[in-house]
Amino acid sequence: MVSIAVDLNRCQGYAQCAFLAPEIFTMHGDEALLYDPDPDEAHREKLAQAAAACPVQAILVDAVDEPAEAVPGGR
Ligand code: SF4
Repeated sequence: MVSIAVDLNRCQGYAQCAFLAPEIFTMHGDEALLYDPDPDEAHREKLAQAAAACPVQAILVDAVDEPAEAVPGGR
């Protein structure tokens, strides 16, 4: 099991992740991102690609769930 977290404060709804790993990320509407926080290990590769492709680095793989209210270096 892989554990992922998406910083939804950063996420701008670019949908790169939904495009690269549709099993894990789905867009609802223009900006709402839904994702599976515990995707199957088999998806790890795709997940890494999705994380790398995210323009705002909002996807954290193997992250501990943490509220990301204050992101240092954020705008
Ligand atoms: S690629 Fe990044 S910014 Fe785009 S929807 Fe996914 S998490 Fe959000």
